[in-house]
Amino acid sequence: MVRQVQFEFTDEQKEIKKAIREFCTKDFTPELALEYDQKEEFPMELYKKAAELGFTSMRIPQDYEGQGYGLVEDCIVVEEMCRADPSLGAAVSLGNLMIPDILLKHGTDAQKEKCIPPLANGDATSAAAFTEPEHGSDITRMDTTAVKSGNEWVINGAKEFITNASIADFLVLLCQTDPNATPSHRGQSLFLVEKGTPGLEATKLHGKMGIRPCITGSLALSDLKVPGSNLVGELNKGFYYALELFDGTRITVAAQAVGMAQGAFERAFQYAKTRKQFGAPIMNFQAVSFRLAEMAMKVEAARLLTYKAAWLYDQGRVSPMATSMAKAYSSRIAMEVTDDAIQVYGGYGYLADYHLERFHRCAKITEIYEGTTEMQKLTILNYLMKSS
Ligand SMILES: Cc1cc2nc3c(=O)[nH]c(=O)nc-3n(C[C@H](O)[C@H](O)[C@H](O)COP(=O)(O)OP(=O)(O)OC[C@H]3O[C@@H](n4cnc5c(N)ncnc54)[C@H](O)[C@@H]3O)c2cc1C
Repeated sequence: MVRQVQFEFTDEQKEIKKAIREFCTKDFTPELALEYDQKEEFPMELYKKAAELGFTSMRIPQDYEGQGYGLVEDCIVVEEMCRADPSLGAAVSLGNLMIPDILLKHGTDAQKEKCIPPLANGDATSAAAFTEPEHGSDITRMDTTAVKSGNEWVINGAKEFITNASIADFLVLLCQTDPNATPSHRGQSLFLVEKGTPGLEATKLHGKMGIRPCITGSLALSDLKVPGSNLVGELNKGFYYALELFDGTRITVAAQAVGMAQGAFERAFQYAKTRKQFGAPIMNFQAVSFRLAEMAMKVEAARLLTYKAAWLYDQGRVSPMATSMAKAYSSRIAMEVTDDAIQVYGGYGYLADYHLERFHRCAKITEIYEGTTEMQKLTILNYLMKSS
């Protein structure tokens, strides 16, 4: 059977887009966004509301209280949330990040039953900790160690820049379990940890450039003991599970970037039609209207790359190259389009009350987290070389 790339959403996907857009129009208000940008607090009420409507569990199977859709539907929701507001959108869409994906693939029944339903219905939040103070782009060796002691593992080390660190009910930590493994990434494992476990200390970071309602923090792990049953999947397979995970989650970061760019474009487009200078709407000046046409082209190209990668993923044809292209391109155009939108707004674009400066500040993170743009380019080149 010839399987073709899907260029248009199905009727059901269009309905999902309409429903999430309606929800965001009502609940992701500019006032709330400004408030949480200043407070640097996680919008828990909004997260719970989105979860009640199923928008934070699109890819979680119905058996675990999710919606049972694929990555394409998840991207539709993430794009719309970030179109409505980049900071609230990032925070809400990352509220239950990664743990359902990891456990669904490699968790035991007990781990899945304990963690996934509360994450699906908004009663819990999660964090996935790979990055360390000395290991960011290169996570092939972890300074955080897990040492077996009887039936337990004893974890020591530190994690940095962890989304939801101080609010997460469930965390997954990448640890070095075999310090002598060669290469070192063959000696890493993932462990599930619950909030409140003695030896786990989280500190919230302040003063981020953007996505301020999204909590970011450091973790100090000091003789943190977890039972053997908290090992996720097989011993010493953690690094491979992480790479496999990023093939999917990086596509949702691309969807965040597409949404941020789309939201900024729409605001600039409307403004150009009404703002008058020299007796005419600024849209009449080709320097402005051509800029808007280019912004629209870039967003559409990024969207196509993103949904192609998501579609391939849903077909079981996971393509790290398609994923990396989607993330690297979408995050770059999010920076460019949000910058262009500020330019169209002129001086007003520079003010918080007009929201576009927040779009620009938030867009930057999509070039950094879940692998920087440089890491995406390395992946693309790696696959190009392999196929040449
Ligand atoms: C807001 C926020 C949230 C985050 N959330 C999480 C989270 O939930 N969980 C988690 O584990 N991590 C998280 N991170 C960490 C994030 O994934 C890392 O910051 C990122 O992977 C880069 O690592 P680094 O900051 O150590 O930079 P470095 O790895 O030190 O890189 C510095 C610069 O050097 C470049 N560089 C490095 N190596 C190469 C190379 N070989 N070739 C070319 N260029 C290279 C990089 O691209 C970058 O430009 C988060 C970060 C932020 C800021």
